[in-house]
Amino acid sequence: MTTETNCDVLIVGGGPAGLSAGIFTARAGLDTLLVNDGDPILRRNANLENYPGFPAGVNSHRLLELMGEQADRAGCDRREGRVVDLQRSDDGFVADTEDGRTLTASNVVAATKNTVDFLRDIDGVELLDRGKEFVDTDDRGRTGAAGLYAAGRLAAQPHQAIIVAGHGATVGVTLIEDSDEEFYHDWVTPEGYFTGRGRECPPGCEEIDDAEREEREAEALDVLQERFAEPHPAEPNQHPSVREEE
Ligand SMILES: Cc1cc2nc3c(=O)[nH]c(=O)nc-3n(C[C@H](O)[C@H](O)[C@H](O)COP(=O)(O)OP(=O)(O)OC[C@H]3O[C@@H](n4cnc5c(N)ncnc54)[C@H](O)[C@@H]3O)c2cc1C
Repeated sequence: MTTETNCDVLIVGGGPAGLSAGIFTARAGLDTLLVNDGDPILRRNANLENYPGFPAGVNSHRLLELMGEQADRAGCDRREGRVVDLQRSDDGFVADTEDGRTLTASNVVAATKNTVDFLRDIDGVELLDRGKEFVDTDDRGRTGAAGLYAAGRLAAQPHQAIIVAGHGATVGVTLIEDSDEEFYHDWVTPEGYFTGRGRECPPGCEEIDDAEREEREAEALDVLQERFAEPHPAEPNQHPSVREEE
């Protein structure tokens, strides 16, 4: 069994909820490790037409890849792995993976849709049985166990990609607010927006001048043109029971 170094945030599950949470915690400078095993359920979608920003829809595989790329750029460490057990420790949590790794973290965000087995031993976690199991949280994704959050569908959020992605972002920001930061906005503003009014640039905010803005927009255009140059090669994942009949 290998023990990996302690991180600030361990995110379990790499669908839209977990990836969004990781983008926010990593951008805030928290040492973030995301482990995912298996396919996010969004890969079953055939064309995603209700995710704001894509007027004619977007390929769901492509969107997940872009979210993953964004998490990587933010500094989120993403790895394959299935968490099979989670326990409390003196300074946070200890997670065991199926392939024999032990991960330690000060905080955990569970974003595993209806997989709850690894959470059963944690005092304060309430499971809701509604045919499928969910985790009870407050309106910011906090469970009854300090430092443990549930995001997305696992937290009984409505079953739409934009809602679970938004909830993952809410959980990420909540975790940051629950840490030592007194105030946090992840905003990029024009130069002088705060400092031009005699204010300090708040934590998590950044002022950029026109040259920097143009450089970033040019890079954004390059990245998107390249990623959307060709249709995505993958077909949507079929429901397992339909696959079995084929
Ligand atoms: C056929 C279909 C079509 C859909 N179409 C639309 C649509 O058009 N528009 C829309 O808005 N929504 C759609 N949805 C719903 C949307 O896909 C989900 O609401 C959303 O993906 C849920 O995101 P999540 O991050 O909460 O969970 P998921 O995306 O399921 O992510 C959870 C991840 O955690 C992993 N995992 C689970 N247990 C563990 C563990 N122990 N350790 C590590 N990893 C683990 C899973 O393998 C998965 O990768 C559709 C869903 C389906 C099934």
